[in-house]
Amino acid sequence: MQIHEKKGYISEIKSATGVNVNRCYQCGKCSAGCAVAEEMDYPPSRVMRLLQTNHIDNYNKLLGSETIWLCISCQNCLTRCPMEIDIPQLMDYLRETALREKKVNKKASHILSFHRAFLDSVRYTGRLYEIGLVADYKVRTFNVFQDLDIAPKMFLKGKLPLMPEMVKDKKQLNKIFTTTCK
Ligand code: SF4
Ligand code: SF4
Repeated sequence: MQIHEKKGYISEIKSATGVNVNRCYQCGKCSAGCAVAEEMDYPPSRVMRLLQTNHIDNYNKLLGSETIWLCISCQNCLTRCPMEIDIPQLMDYLRETALREKKVNKKASHILSFHRAFLDSVRYTGRLYEIGLVADYKVRTFNVFQDLDIAPKMFLKGKLPLMPEMVKDKKQLNKIFTTTCK
């Protein structure tokens, strides 16, 4: 969706996510309960404030932020919010928009590689295939030695099956990916 420079983006966000950003009254409970707020360039309540300005510069700041990629969709902010504002849904929307508009923060490239490797695993097997996920992630990031020391322990505990377990209804799986990943 193209954002209108003058009208802003608040109504677009509302129609795409159902979230009315103007309902936020800046109590700060979301930021206080967010486990990764300290790592973020804009904690969740700040994200809400920037969105409320309805100003394209602030919107672009958020699209290019690390915050939207650090959010782990834990829903803690939503549970704590007195106005039941669905911040995880907003973060999803901002991530999708950042990807579409090619505004992804460079520092988030490893997180994005992990997202893609995870989705590839689900796309081809219908489940999470850990060895495939790790190999895919390492190829994407050239980070071959990361966490290599924990692999033998995980293997011995049966957490790294050599062969993937395939989902039976592959057609249905393909359909889900065709309709959701356009
Ligand atoms: S908890 Fe809800 S109302 Fe309070 S700052 Fe966060 S989003 Fe706004
Ligand atoms: S869903 Fe995201 S913003 Fe909300 S508390 Fe969890 S990590 Fe923080």
